[in-house]
Amino acid sequence: MSKEKVDVTGISVPLGEDYPEIRESVRRICKDFPGEYWRDLDARSAYPDAFVKALTDAGYLSVLIPEVYGGAGLPLRAASVILEEIHASGCSAGACHAQMYTMGTLLRHGSAEQKQRFLPDIASGKLRLQAFGVTEPTTGSDTTQIKTRADLVRDPGGDYYVVNGQKVWTSRALYSDLMMLLVRTTAADQVARKTEGLSVLLVDLRDARGNGLEIRPIKAMVNHNTTEIFMDNMLVPAANRIGEEGKGFRYILDGMNAERIIAASEAIGDTRWFIRKASNYATERIVFGRPIGQNQGIQFPIARAYTELAAAEMMVRKATALFAAGQPCGEDANIAKLLSTEAAWHAAEACLQTHGGFGFASEYDVERKWREVRVMQVAPISTNLILAYVAEHVLGLPRSY
Ligand SMILES: Cc1cc2nc3c(=O)[nH]c(=O)nc-3n(C[C@H](O)[C@H](O)[C@H](O)COP(=O)(O)OP(=O)(O)OC[C@H]3O[C@@H](n4cnc5c(N)ncnc54)[C@H](O)[C@@H]3O)c2cc1C
Repeated sequence: MSKEKVDVTGISVPLGEDYPEIRESVRRICKDFPGEYWRDLDARSAYPDAFVKALTDAGYLSVLIPEVYGGAGLPLRAASVILEEIHASGCSAGACHAQMYTMGTLLRHGSAEQKQRFLPDIASGKLRLQAFGVTEPTTGSDTTQIKTRADLVRDPGGDYYVVNGQKVWTSRALYSDLMMLLVRTTAADQVARKTEGLSVLLVDLRDARGNGLEIRPIKAMVNHNTTEIFMDNMLVPAANRIGEEGKGFRYILDGMNAERIIAASEAIGDTRWFIRKASNYATERIVFGRPIGQNQGIQFPIARAYTELAAAEMMVRKATALFAAGQPCGEDANIAKLLSTEAAWHAAEACLQTHGGFGFASEYDVERKWREVRVMQVAPISTNLILAYVAEHVLGLPRSY
């Protein structure tokens, strides 16, 4: 029923441990960052500098950057595998995944000059592209209604934008050098369609902070280093606009399928972690003279989460294969995101329940990971918005918003 015409001729889906060397190497790096490391950061709401540095030094945050700019030039599946293994190891890519989430916008729509200016330094780790400013406090999921304005000023010394507005939930802004920012460059009442008149600016946070940009941390349920940002006559060179003025919404949408797929891969990794953790504990914990895992009330929720993992993983692999083949994959990427985050949540619940009271003790890491996967039902896209996509674009039901 989907309106998307997908040609599946010749597309195959790899099974098993694809990219085994990458998986093994990521697992080795993650071993140096055990639960104590993440617990300490969580308690202090601190940023995992050492972890991000280790991944950067090993080249794993720049796998999507073409070799000519110093990256590995690998396909999206490699990024998925890296993020999956990070999460399956009990670590979190939340501090650095934006580099992969947002990279596509610069790769696909940036000019040759911009790529040359930014990508080699991002690949080497000299520059961090970790912040992505889309969500605003008063508009939420209704992205086309954002209020942040950027007005172009012509200047012989170089044209620039004057930006005014506010973003919320801009994660990692305090730890990033660059921020991909969605702004309105033509007022909503002066465009034919509400998706027009939006533009993407690459903001150099090092120049902007204290010069029209204020960043305030938000204390949240998870240690996501998230912030709200206030822009008051912040200047951004026009040379930092990605692509054409007014086409920014399409550029952001273009990146959504890749974002859904790699977010889903993180959830697959988390699900694997919870199932392993729950199974181990259920086997070791003896109550009433037998392992608690002998009780079906304990083993069935874990087994059910495993079946959900298996199904979700197939959808992630299918969506990735379609993406790699250049085929439309909106339906599959959205379904993959929904199924994998639900599998992760059900596995988290099963794991917490299996641990009884100890599930609430920080030292078991279960409650921290449980909080982290709960976020995935809301960010980077909420479950309802995925269901709305499937209802409208796949099933042809009337648009609900
Ligand atoms: C930890 C964290 C990190 C984040 N990081 C970033 C980031 O780096 N950059 C960034 O730009 N944003 C980020 N976000 C924001 C995130 O993308 C938004 O929270 C999310 O898109 C939902 O927007 P909202 O919170 O305004 O909810 P709202 O849009 O206000 O929605 C509230 C609820 O209503 C539901 N809803 C709204 N409209 C409809 C509808 N038409 N039909 C059915 N249900 C509907 C939603 O599904 C949701 O459950 C982050 C959020 C969190 C929590």
